[in-house]
Amino acid sequence: MKFGGTSVGDTEKIKEVARRLVAAREAGFRVVGVLSAMGDTTDELIRLAHEISPKPQAREYDMLVSVGERISNALCAMAIYDLGHEAISLTGSQAGIVTDTVHGKAKIVEVRAQRVHDSLDDEKIVLVAGFQGVSSAHEVTTLGRGGSDTTAVALAAALGATACEIYTDVEGVFTADPRIVPGARKLAALTYEEMLELSASGAKVLSLRSVEFARNHDVRLHVRSTFSQADGTWVVDEEDPVLEKAIISGVAQTDCEPLFRVREIDAATLFARLAAASVNVDTILQTSMEEIVFSAPLEDRDACKQVLESLGVEWSMRDDLGKVSLVGVGMKSHPGIAAKTLATLGGIGVESQVISTSPIKIACHIRTEDVPKAVAALHEAFELERA
Ligand code: ADP
Ligand code: ASP
Ligand code: MG
Repeated sequence: MKFGGTSVGDTEKIKEVARRLVAAREAGFRVVGVLSAMGDTTDELIRLAHEISPKPQAREYDMLVSVGERISNALCAMAIYDLGHEAISLTGSQAGIVTDTVHGKAKIVEVRAQRVHDSLDDEKIVLVAGFQGVSSAHEVTTLGRGGSDTTAVALAAALGATACEIYTDVEGVFTADPRIVPGARKLAALTYEEMLELSASGAKVLSLRSVEFARNHDVRLHVRSTFSQADGTWVVDEEDPVLEKAIISGVAQTDCEPLFRVREIDAATLFARLAAASVNVDTILQTSMEEIVFSAPLEDRDACKQVLESLGVEWSMRDDLGKVSLVGVGMKSHPGIAAKTLATLGGIGVESQVISTSPIKIACHIRTEDVPKAVAALHEAFELERA
């Protein structure tokens, strides 16, 4: 059971989370909780790091920002004792979350779950600090923003859990961000592939790595509200009977996705260098030998610039663009989705700078200021508010 930052925003909310964990324990389950840092704690720690240094040293950055999760999990363990149950809070390292050595966005490579198993055998509710691990070089690492989702899924996989429940501040996965499209509809279920595309396209309700992990290890995910008992959204295998088989399952957006143009460079060299700098390249376009266009997430912008500078090539960047993406497994077998997408954007005067597709996604880079109205228009054009 994973609880996000808003769900543990103050001590009253943490007590409520403790009651929920205890209720699951009393229903007969062995329970592992993964809590995020309280409210804006992580933002605040990151702000402090940048206040003290323009370029915080990577190891110390992780030592600092991993602290938030220790606070919330320890507090919750105390609350559980007061409810008459035993609990133990563990850091990522103590829980056996082993990662690679990339500070700030480490990948989980192994979960050594013996200590968690032992504590469960001792009848304890086990609380694991999300978003962090220990590297093969014995250093504390963090998993990137939203990384507590990944901690929870990795533990669920390692422990052979029945399911991984992601408790958050909305009732599930919606056809669009409910904060942007008020008419967005909660989905009962969707496939790992669809959720991967939505997460990769900016739907932060689940972190991308967590969905990847769930798909690779067959962990069924249940995204649901911390503040109600209602059923949420299941993220499952394509064969699962709970699926609705909609053509389009949702639209996602990012407000800013930097777009780079690079001239006169060998593509293999360019992308090898970006990969070595741990840049997560998104769209890649090459229509001639002279020019390559690619996009990368905002958090990788500085790393991209450094690589391009060091290559000594001619390049330019636009960071006044965001991206809207329409996602659905039904796209594979229904022609005309791209046509309708572009007609819809054209109809509201929005021009696409770059269009990219996968079998189940169509994505358009558009001006940042156009993103909200484009999301709303696509949601309406494809009638996503209706089941
Ligand atoms: P937590 O702190 O629980 O991890 P996040 O803020 O990371 O929560 O993710 C939940 C938020 O994701 C919601 O408040 C919502 O605004 C946003 N979101 C974006 N796209 C979607 C979507 N398609 N469905 C549901 N929520 C979405
Ligand atoms: N606290 C971390 C963050 O804000 C991890 C998480 O919440 O999942 O990104
Ligand atoms: Mg999150």
